[in-house]
Amino acid sequence: MNIHVPDQSKVIMAYGHDDQAMIHCEECGELIQAISKMRRIVHRFGGPFDPYRSDEEVEAYGNLVEEMADVLICLEQIKEMYGIYEKELQDMVDKKYARQEARLAAVCRKDGKSGKSGRSREVQHGNV
Ligand SMILES: [Mg+2]
Repeated sequence: MNIHVPDQSKVIMAYGHDDQAMIHCEECGELIQAISKMRRIVHRFGGPFDPYRSDEEVEAYGNLVEEMADVLICLEQIKEMYGIYEKELQDMVDKKYARQEARLAAVCRKDGKSGKSGRSREVQHGNV
């Protein structure tokens, strides 16, 4: 993902850290709702998401994109408010990714030997 979010310092200065922190919480909640709604729609129709199947899916898709954008903007504000460096974030993402890869490799080895698909919940759900 390589999305440019413009500098947020003017917004942070205008509304203050505390008010923006509340907005960050609310926007994360809105993204959770949008993800949940997409999941519900996919389960109802069955199969993969199809943005051309119904107006409801088009609307849910648009809402998901909007809430993702809101959270990306919030993440930029959080970085600026607390002085978090891009490199720190990248290093943490790399560390988490390496852990995911190790878990997946372990599950694939285990499943390959036993022929079972008895994966732990953690791996089934792709926890980071
Ligand atoms: Mg929002």
